[in-house]
Amino acid sequence: MVPKEHSEQDYSASVQEIYSRYSSGPSGLDPTECLHRLTIYGKNTLIQSKKKSVYIRFFANFTHLMAILLWIGGIVALIAHMPQLAAAVWMVNIINGLFSFWQEFRAEKAADALMQLLPVKVRVIRNGVTIEIAAEDLVPGDLMVLAEGDHISADGRLVEASELRIDQSTLTGESHPVKKTADPSYETDISKIEYQNLVFAGTNVVSGTGLAIVTTTGMTTEFGKVAHLTQGIEEEKSPLQQEMVHVTRMVTIVAVSIGILFFIMLMTLTTVTLAESFIFALGMIVAFVPEGLLPTVTLALARGSQRMAKRNALIKRLSAVETLGCTSVICTDKTGTLTQNEMTITRIWIPGSFFSVTGVGYGPEGEITPDEPANQKNMDALRELFIAGVLCSNARLLAPDSANPQWNILGDPTEAAILVAAEKSGVYYEEESHRFPRVREFPFDSRRKCMSTLHLAENDLICYLKGAPKAVLDISSMVMENGEPVLLTGEKRARIMEVNDSFAEQGLRVLGIARKNIHGDVTPENAEDVEHDMTFLGLVAMMDPPRPEVALAVKKCHRACIRIIMITGDYGLTAKSIARRIGIITSDTPRIITGVELDQMDNNDLKQALSGEVIFARVTPEHKLRVVEVLRETGEIVAVTGDGVNDAPALKKADIGVAMGISGTDVAKEAADMVLTDDNFASIVNAIEEGRAVYANIKKFTGYIFTSNTPEAVPFILFAFSKGRIPLALDVMPILTIDLGTDLVPALALGSEPPEPGIMDKPPRNLREHVITRSLLFRSYLWLGPIQSLAVMSAFLYQYWTNGYWGRIFDLPAQGPLYHSAVGMALAAVVTTQIGNVLAHRTERSSILKIGFFTNRMVWAGIVSELIIIIIVLYIPFFQEIIGTAPFPVENWLFLFAWAPVLLLAEEFRKGVIRMIEKKKGVNNPSGGIA
Ligand code: ATP
Repeated sequence: MVPKEHSEQDYSASVQEIYSRYSSGPSGLDPTECLHRLTIYGKNTLIQSKKKSVYIRFFANFTHLMAILLWIGGIVALIAHMPQLAAAVWMVNIINGLFSFWQEFRAEKAADALMQLLPVKVRVIRNGVTIEIAAEDLVPGDLMVLAEGDHISADGRLVEASELRIDQSTLTGESHPVKKTADPSYETDISKIEYQNLVFAGTNVVSGTGLAIVTTTGMTTEFGKVAHLTQGIEEEKSPLQQEMVHVTRMVTIVAVSIGILFFIMLMTLTTVTLAESFIFALGMIVAFVPEGLLPTVTLALARGSQRMAKRNALIKRLSAVETLGCTSVICTDKTGTLTQNEMTITRIWIPGSFFSVTGVGYGPEGEITPDEPANQKNMDALRELFIAGVLCSNARLLAPDSANPQWNILGDPTEAAILVAAEKSGVYYEEESHRFPRVREFPFDSRRKCMSTLHLAENDLICYLKGAPKAVLDISSMVMENGEPVLLTGEKRARIMEVNDSFAEQGLRVLGIARKNIHGDVTPENAEDVEHDMTFLGLVAMMDPPRPEVALAVKKCHRACIRIIMITGDYGLTAKSIARRIGIITSDTPRIITGVELDQMDNNDLKQALSGEVIFARVTPEHKLRVVEVLRETGEIVAVTGDGVNDAPALKKADIGVAMGISGTDVAKEAADMVLTDDNFASIVNAIEEGRAVYANIKKFTGYIFTSNTPEAVPFILFAFSKGRIPLALDVMPILTIDLGTDLVPALALGSEPPEPGIMDKPPRNLREHVITRSLLFRSYLWLGPIQSLAVMSAFLYQYWTNGYWGRIFDLPAQGPLYHSAVGMALAAVVTTQIGNVLAHRTERSSILKIGFFTNRMVWAGIVSELIIIIIVLYIPFFQEIIGTAPFPVENWLFLFAWAPVLLLAEEFRKGVIRMIEKKKGVNNPSGGIA
């Protein structure tokens, strides 16, 4: 049966009424009923925001400043009786518009595809079993399971709530979390969002747990209604895209000014007609304006994020791609990010005895043996320790089955490790939980660094507790010795910490376990009411090996002058041992600052500490936020990792917030700029490498495009200054052929260059550095540009000189077949020299020999495309007519191709000199990798 329409009175109904109103129950819905409801209510999605209509975006590519200039240019050409030119200019405008639109479209599709990789999941109870489904499959009547850090995906009415607090700021703007309960409410004068028993899509669970019946989904949720209002907000351009808009605008202004100046010169110095002068001036403008730059940048960023996704880093904002390349500090968690988060208990201590545990992984195969022969009392104490450990855990072990041939776990690996070791000694969760049913849990939180549970035992309640040893000791007053609780004296505390430290120094993660009996009828409501006067039972120490790829990634960071700061909730000595093992710390005396010490430091002390090798241990997410803030104050570009709800502020504050895709909460993922699909530190470093590569590639194709501007402009300058006596080697149509034809694919190819060797061997780029630097302009306009111009003019003159005009410059015919074949030569010279140019631009400093000629196949596709276009333009009469070219003798190609390697050789020479200078100066290059 299908539930009735959503009722406004859901808040006043009892839990039973809610179940029957939505034809559901404590076991949730039946899967077939869900499918049926899905057909009626549709998917639980917000109808895709209609960004800007495709048509508007399509036409925008034909109506920007440059396009308008070309439209007008065509009209002037018509008036000047040059219909082919008009048609050609318009045609080129259309091709350019289509190409730009295609690039934007591809970039957008790439971004959408990435979002698909980050599906929103929810837990529901269906047919009595808790399962995870895609949020879009939620239907009214579904029983949603809510826990800390969850993103709520539909509106619902609570049927159960325990310490549930929800951040409703997306709907109300009020960031303080509100407490929620499952009780019916009879208030009538409050808004729907204020009802304590209703939960809403788009909000997040800050703490506690709950169950809610879904009342409405998709666009009919409160969030869906608001989403209607906010749709259409344009996504902000990234700083780099903004810079490109700015650059294109500036260059256009400069080009138009030069064009006007040129127009005036032609009119005053030569006998060229008004219309022709205008067309020539237009040629100058077109020569300088980098028409295809912006869409190519957008596509390069999108491609970069695609490559990052392949290396397990999902980028949520395009601008993060470029910021990543500037990252100077990574603040990282330890557990799960640097380590494998596959815990195995290897050592146990109970007062008086040490035990070793064999076996690796989650399979309960292995043995527990005392270091010295143990008596029955010791063995009982060990059993008691395990009973406390398994009862105070939420993880479950999953036996191998046909789908998963290995032992697996559900829940926290730290807890699972306890279950595994307990089974090795014959203590089973199922049996114990039957004997001592759990009545309450005070969940783990990173501030208390412990968790506790209450269990029924005959007439009493027992509290079991586990947590960081120091935290557990702080709330214990007794210790179990030989089966008897005895006073926990200072000496005994010191002994326990000594054992703890000896484990931690081996890089083991240590937990303390305690218990106590609670007499009386009242079940305590708060953790503080219970967690005191505990009886300490012992320590369990587990190994969590570093991820194998991390040590290499750490080395890479060091070479790239990126600092790594470990900020962990774990104990200092454990953190230090792991940090040393993977190479994060190298000095003998790294500073370890605990959360408590950090609280006593002012910002200046902290800044000072941050300048050396430092580890933050036993800290809370608030401390992490402070470290990030102070680092940013000192000008660092900070990437920070996080997984919990409380990490969200630090993730937001950092330049790059990195959430864990596997172990992270929805809240952390939402706050982050990047999500790691494998939770692995090495993936952050890979993403930084890609980020650097994207930026370098954008510089590469910008430099490439700018280079050919010079040989496009030089013929105009010679023409004007010779008062028209040196014929124009390249006029408007050949220039458009280069800018919007032959240059396009090679530029795109440079946008997809893989990271250059040595890219991680230099310090991070300054965030304020521009793409267009003085050195880029120098390289394009004053180094490669002039060489290319020389090639173009010599090719142009070569055709005249080999046809009876040897040595003459000032009385060459400016029309007729000879002139057009000379233009053909000039155009072909641009193409052949651009071959060397594109290869030269593949690297910034390395020799092409180092990366290999054929490592980017797109570049060769670009070169082939250039050659095909030039052959079409030279040999097909229709295009000869439009572009104004004529064929030249075949042997002239030898002359043209002789120029092809010149730009590449010139660059090899320049790069070689730079490498030599850097080597002399001893620029950071410990691996010698820049070359
Ligand atoms: P990191 O911050 O590097 O991921 P972490 O997981 O050790 O490290 P927290 O989750 O803040 O950081 O845990 C802090 C300490 O609390 C741990 O070192 C451990 O001693 C203890 N602890 C962790 N998980 C549990 C748990 N489920 N129950 C009880 N105590 C725990």
